[in-house]
Amino acid sequence: MYEKVVSRNPGEREFHQAVFEVMQSVGPIAEERSDYAQWSILQRICEPERQIIFRVPWVADDGKVEINRGFRVEFNSALGPFKGGLRFHPSVNLSIIKFLGFEQVFKNALTGMPIGGGKGGADFDPKGRSDGEVMRFCQSFMTELYRHVGEYTDVPAGDIGVGGREIGYLFGQYKRITNRYESGVITGKGLTWGGSQVRTEATGYGTVFFVEQMLQARGEHLEGKRVVVSGAGNVAIYAVEKAQALGAVVVAVSDSGGYVVDEAGIDLELLKEIKEVERGRLTEYVERRSGATHVTDGCIWDVPCDIALPCATQNELDESAAKTLAANGVTLVAEGANMPSTPAAVQLFQAAGVLFAPGKASNAGGVATSALEMQQNASRDSWHFDETEARLQEIMSEIHDTCLATSDHYGAPGNYVVGANLAGYVRVADAMVALGVI
Ligand code: NDP
Repeated sequence: MYEKVVSRNPGEREFHQAVFEVMQSVGPIAEERSDYAQWSILQRICEPERQIIFRVPWVADDGKVEINRGFRVEFNSALGPFKGGLRFHPSVNLSIIKFLGFEQVFKNALTGMPIGGGKGGADFDPKGRSDGEVMRFCQSFMTELYRHVGEYTDVPAGDIGVGGREIGYLFGQYKRITNRYESGVITGKGLTWGGSQVRTEATGYGTVFFVEQMLQARGEHLEGKRVVVSGAGNVAIYAVEKAQALGAVVVAVSDSGGYVVDEAGIDLELLKEIKEVERGRLTEYVERRSGATHVTDGCIWDVPCDIALPCATQNELDESAAKTLAANGVTLVAEGANMPSTPAAVQLFQAAGVLFAPGKASNAGGVATSALEMQQNASRDSWHFDETEARLQEIMSEIHDTCLATSDHYGAPGNYVVGANLAGYVRVADAMVALGVI
């Protein structure tokens, strides 16, 4: 079946990788649920319901017309409206959006909330662009996308390169075209215009809540642990914040220009100032912080740690990095990013007895809080920070317990990859069976 997926989707390396990883886990289900074969569940799950590719023309500050390519892959809506972020990054292509959409289906199912899976984006690079250019790009992108989305149809959010600023421009254009203040059409909105408390923090916080659960299941805590976090964007910053709040010492973060090592512990206020306010580079961190060093050769996983949290991008942690981490004594790896570890790296961690949490479980806090934002929009309500954070913590704890119980049930105790894949798969598959052949 995997070979069929490869031949039907030639050249889509990342998509193949994501499908392979899930297919490797679903064997035990084939035995237990022979009805799924009759319904061709696996084949249908690998085929997006709809894929949209479109031209995004916009005018740069110098008057030149620029053209980008936009994507929205609506993967599976058996459990609810398609839900998943938009990524603006020069590397974006159909394969990357499909892998993200495919993963999103199982992740969203794991949250237990009524959301299907999808993903979108464009090969646009917001870095170095003025606010005006970013706004014009977002407006052009939404001028096509608006006809495909809606609170009951497809609800986008942010991802790499898409934060509060971009969500604002996208929502503004949607509102202008449709003449509807339909808050539930997009999540990650600003707090004064329909957003939810904790959404900004949710993916990073959720990842650390998940880590705390993994440790607690073994009678341990984050307190005093040495942590390395890759990335310095939305997920990374709030993973650092929560890890520090729970007593860990975060000694390194990175961006695409290199990584910073700060043995005294990352100065979070400084990091936020550089990345969130100034949209600057990590080289500026070491200029303002004595004792910190910026490294451009090697990789962040060379830094010894107890816990590694890859929070940047796909395939950023390969087999050789995994070997180094294991040799340096890492005991737990939890993915804040989507598919940051290569299959060989995951195998190595599992063989070495390193606790490993796949992104579709450990980073599900972002989309779960987006679903909470949708709930608040639907009831025209807004919840307090503490209350929303408590909901997030509870959801992460349930996901954790579901993964463990499912891994036990299918004879792979403690294997969070098997637990996450199978728990998500069964929930989606059962809904697909119930809804008939559509
Ligand atoms: P941001 O754009 O806020 O930050 C991304 C960070 O990763 C930046 O520091 C960026 O560095 C670095 N990065 C991105 N691409 C590369 C690359 N090719 N090589 C090296 N570094 C890179 O994105 P997010 O923090 O939102 O997303 C990070 C990851 O988390 C992604 O995998 C995303 O899919 C996943 N995720 C995000 C969720 C969310 O709620 N935002 C939810 C669930 C998963 P630089 O600025 O130099 O490019």
